[in-house]
Amino acid sequence: MIQILKSISVVAIVSCTFAYIGSKTTTEPFATFFIVSTALQFIFFYFYNSIITYVTRMKLEKENLEAIRLINTNNVLINCEACKKLNTVRVDLSTITQFECTHCNTENILNIEYKTIIKTKIPKNEIPSI
Ligand SMILES: [Zn+2]
Repeated sequence: MIQILKSISVVAIVSCTFAYIGSKTTTEPFATFFIVSTALQFIFFYFYNSIITYVTRMKLEKENLEAIRLINTNNVLINCEACKKLNTVRVDLSTITQFECTHCNTENILNIEYKTIIKTKIPKNEIPSI
């Protein structure tokens, strides 16, 4: 509320200034300059706020996409194929993951295999009734 009053005060001061200068330098009345400059300021700030809102929304969407991309990656410990030593590799399932071994500098490509296993069903620990 205070911000709105502050904005209206600034608009009124700017309009009064333009209207005063305009009415002193031309034959047009003060009110004409005041109304025109006020309308122009409202139009300008409408478009200005629209652009700022659009830019902010685009920035937030970009950050959200980046966050989602980071969430979809995981760090795994995996052995180098050449020297068999452990490396920490960030895995993104949407692309081919390559890494350079930190020990022998060999380029490795991560080969992901999917296997299925049967889920073990643990029997309920039921005490037989006597
Ligand atoms: Zn290696």
